[in-house]
Amino acid sequence: MNKGILIVVSAPSGCGKGTILAEILKDEGYYYSVSATTRSPRPGEEDGVNYHFLKREQFEELIKNDGMLEYAEYCGNYYGTPKDKVFEKIEEGKNVILEIEVQGAMQIKKKCPQAVFIFIAPPSVGELRRRLLKRGTETEEVIEKRVSEATHEIGFAGEYDYIVVNGALEDAIEDFKTVIRAEKLKSANQKKLIDEVLENA
Ligand code: 5GP
Repeated sequence: MNKGILIVVSAPSGCGKGTILAEILKDEGYYYSVSATTRSPRPGEEDGVNYHFLKREQFEELIKNDGMLEYAEYCGNYYGTPKDKVFEKIEEGKNVILEIEVQGAMQIKKKCPQAVFIFIAPPSVGELRRRLLKRGTETEEVIEKRVSEATHEIGFAGEYDYIVVNGALEDAIEDFKTVIRAEKLKSANQKKLIDEVLENA
């Protein structure tokens, strides 16, 4: 069996990234890497499922022991990808998804250039603002802060291999699946398969 691929996904909040990934993760060929963070759990979030919720000292200990594949400070909290599972799952043939912000993604780009980088963008910043207002979970002030953060993040989209615009959800999911399908077909990702083809002479 071929190894899995490493998929790095970034998107500003309100882009519908969660909905797209939930659909992708229905397929057992994928593994979602659970990040570590020092932020507090939101209502409904579970330790070990949404994040590994750590104290600042615990997080810093992990950094010190080289336990993080990447990490970043975002809005005053640490977020990072624990190293342990990622490569193990790739070896098992799973496609591993890292859902991380742009600073972390740029670190992975240096360390793992073979990974595929996907940026999920809103159709427009105006539409993003409308979606956040409609969601109604934040004050207008917070929404404006998120919109400005999103604008900054969208500035990095050109660093990614692919941009998927989440206008119509079904199209975005289809685009995402198409990218992964093409990546899996790359010769570099099918080394085992070629061996198997040659073995069965
Ligand atoms: P939230 O607090 O809304 O769950 O996440 C805030 C931001 O941190 C999001 O952009 C999310 O993608 C990012 N994030 C989540 N996990 C990680 C991680 O392990 N590393 C990095 N660099 N960013 C992460």
